[in-house]
Parts: sequence; C-alpha cells; structure tokens
Amino acid sequence: MSNENMITVNNYFKYLAEKKLMASKCPHCNQIDLPPRRLCSECLSEAEWIELSGKGALKTFSSIYVGSKAMMDKGYNRKKPYVFAVCQMEEGPSVAGQLIGVDETQPDKITIDMAVQVTFLRAEIGVDKEGNPLYRWDVGFEPQK
Ligand SMILES: [Zn+2]
Repeated sequence: MSNENMITVNNYFKYLAEKKLMASKCPHCNQIDLPPRRLCSECLSEAEWIELSGKGALKTFSSIYVGSKAMMDKGYNRKKPYVFAVCQMEEGPSVAGQLIGVDETQPDKITIDMAVQVTFLRAEIGVDKEGNPLYRWDVGFEPQK
C-alpha cells in the first residue's frame, strides 16, 4: 500500500473532499471501522479502505438551539436550531453529523430509523496567511429521496 493511500485521518478528510465516505475493512474478519483504523479493531490485522454507500438510518439526534461559535456564525440560533444526528450506515458503523433537509423547529416530526443518505458539508476551519478562509468537508445527512 503506497503512503498516499494509507489509512490516516488526513486521507479520510481527502476522501471526504472527493465526496467519498471511506471506512476501513478487515480482510481477515470483515470488521468495518469508522473512523477508519489502519489496524482492525477486532483482530489487529492490517485493514483496507472501503467506500461506504452513504445510505443508512437515523438512530438518535439532538436539536441544538445554542450551538458552537462556528454554527452560530453560519446563522443558527435560538430561533433557527440545527440538528446533530448519529446515523447507522447500512454497512454497520455509525457516524455523527448535521442532519439537513428537515424542519429543525419541529423535532417531533423527525423519526428515528428514517432512511438517510450522506451529504458532504463544507466547514470553515480558519483562515490562511492571506486571510482567505480555509475549509474542510464534514459528513452530514439528509432524508433519502
Ligand atoms: Zn479483523
């Protein structure tokens, strides 16, 4: 396996920027880990990248009315909450991220086990030396169409 393609956090985010949700899969026991791990969490064998389908189900969520500064800067506030969710991917692992495409002001209308698909959300993570914003891509979810 070339260095470029090693299972690292950096490469995980590089794949996210390509709109790919990648996990690691163990060729020995088939365990799938997300966040990806170079060594299988079950048997410590060397794992390999696997691209997930991005389809899954909502398992739990919170409506957040008082969020982080980054989310407040995006325009979320007490009148415009956002939803942070944990979803289980059809391949098994769970992943956390913002759930969009729902009415955040009516959390009772958001149903556990609803079918979701991964979407990729751009997050500002600071500025470079010239003051230009720096971004990374995060996992988000939306209802399956
Ligand atoms: Zn294993």
